[in-house]
Amino acid sequence: MDRRTFSRRLLTGLAALPLWNLAYGRNRNLSRPKVIIIGAGLAGAAAARTLADEGFELQVLEAGSRVGGRIHTFRGWGVNLELGANWVHNTAHPDNQIDEQLRQLGVAMKKTNYYRFQLFDGEGQKVNHLQALLFSMKLQNKIQRAWPELAGTEDSLSIRQVFDHVASDSGLSPTQQAMLRFNREAYAQTLAASLSDASAGHYLGADMGEALGKDQLVLGGYDTLVNHLLQGVPVQLHTEVREIRQQGQQVEVLAGNDVFEADFSIVTVPLSILQNGRIQFSPGLSEEKARALSRLRLGLFNKVAMRFTEKFWSGNPDFLVLQNGRSEHNSILLNHHHYSGQPILIAMPVADAAHWVEEQDEETIQRSWQEILHKAYPHREIEFRDIAVTRWQANPFSRGSYSFVPVGATASDFAAIAEPMGRIHFAGEATIAAFHGTVHGAYLSGVREAERVIKG
Ligand SMILES: Cc1cc2nc3c(=O)[nH]c(=O)nc-3n(C[C@H](O)[C@H](O)[C@H](O)COP(=O)(O)OP(=O)(O)OC[C@H]3O[C@@H](n4cnc5c(N)ncnc54)[C@H](O)[C@@H]3O)c2cc1C
Repeated sequence: MDRRTFSRRLLTGLAALPLWNLAYGRNRNLSRPKVIIIGAGLAGAAAARTLADEGFELQVLEAGSRVGGRIHTFRGWGVNLELGANWVHNTAHPDNQIDEQLRQLGVAMKKTNYYRFQLFDGEGQKVNHLQALLFSMKLQNKIQRAWPELAGTEDSLSIRQVFDHVASDSGLSPTQQAMLRFNREAYAQTLAASLSDASAGHYLGADMGEALGKDQLVLGGYDTLVNHLLQGVPVQLHTEVREIRQQGQQVEVLAGNDVFEADFSIVTVPLSILQNGRIQFSPGLSEEKARALSRLRLGLFNKVAMRFTEKFWSGNPDFLVLQNGRSEHNSILLNHHHYSGQPILIAMPVADAAHWVEEQDEETIQRSWQEILHKAYPHREIEFRDIAVTRWQANPFSRGSYSFVPVGATASDFAAIAEPMGRIHFAGEATIAAFHGTVHGAYLSGVREAERVIKG
């Protein structure tokens, strides 16, 4: 090798080396750079794994009593029930490695077919499946055709306004009403938000149909991934961070009476925790970040898991859709029997219906579902064995389910939240525009910030 090639290789090699590595290499007595990660959800776990593999010293501080955050596997009924995230979405996307990682960990998954649903109308009558599918396809077509024209005239439209433009509720038969409501609800559910709040400009450009077609339902325990990523990483539970200060080249993190010091910190707490000022920053948040925080919103999606003494519903579709009078955000049930063979249905209320669930006790919720189920299956014995209800809004360390883009906000708001402030970095599902509100979004954001730290 000639001298020039050698020095060029040396220079390229040095450019790729992080600065801390140079200093550490010169003086072995120097301590390894330390990073404090705030939050042990998937973003925190992904950041921790990436940094641990590069030899950084780590401390993860978690406010709650378990790791995983909005990934929460419940094993109480002898089956893995996911009370937070359950699907791996967008598995066809090349950046999404979550299903591959789960497969390598031996975690069972099963593909979801969103077209395999059984829809009932408001009078408890089964809707012809083919008719319902055709209705949905026509509606999607109408929206796609209407959208470019509407987008040109108005940039502050909600998705609901676009739906209303192409399909009105008035004069519909119970069957048509059920089909229209189902379409609106399915859309609202992916966003954990009422369509009246969600930005048409942000979402209607994306091809939701194609993305949804490739989803896998995780059956073998989503938390396996979190635990795997955090292997060997020190995690301190019950440690709510209240203040983060940058002092010169150091970061101080305050939790209760404890002060933790590090070279960097990565904050991965949910959007709502940043919005409500539960964590104080010094210096304060930039104007741009504060503006973005005031514009984005955390939606609400809860789960009502119901276990019966035996399966009373006929067929084995992926979903049952049962209209209920109170809200159009509370009719889609995941038929867990299709996946696990257990007589379990999981209701997935969003928006107003999810808020309703937060305010009721288990008995009231059970009674309400008993009535709805009885209407569709009047001749079957419906006997509840257990009920498990999530209340993600009441959870002090999430205060909601996942972020969405309301009317008036844009994708650039996610980037503003992600922007580092000196040695303080930001990750989490609400910091990644392309995949906000998802597990793979959280994962990628954690890796992104860890790599920023590594580059120094
Ligand atoms: C009901 C529900 C269903 C969902 N379904 C899906 C799905 O099917 N597929 C999908 O891809 N995504 C789904 N999601 C979204 C997905 O779960 C999240 O996007 C992802 O898990 C968020 O990870 P995160 O690390 O960004 O945040 P989190 O998991 O919320 O982690 C943040 C952590 O920070 C902790 N924390 C908060 N405040 C503090 C503090 N002050 N100090 C220290 N720690 C703190 C929290 O306790 C938490 O553990 C769902 C979410 C919910 C709630």
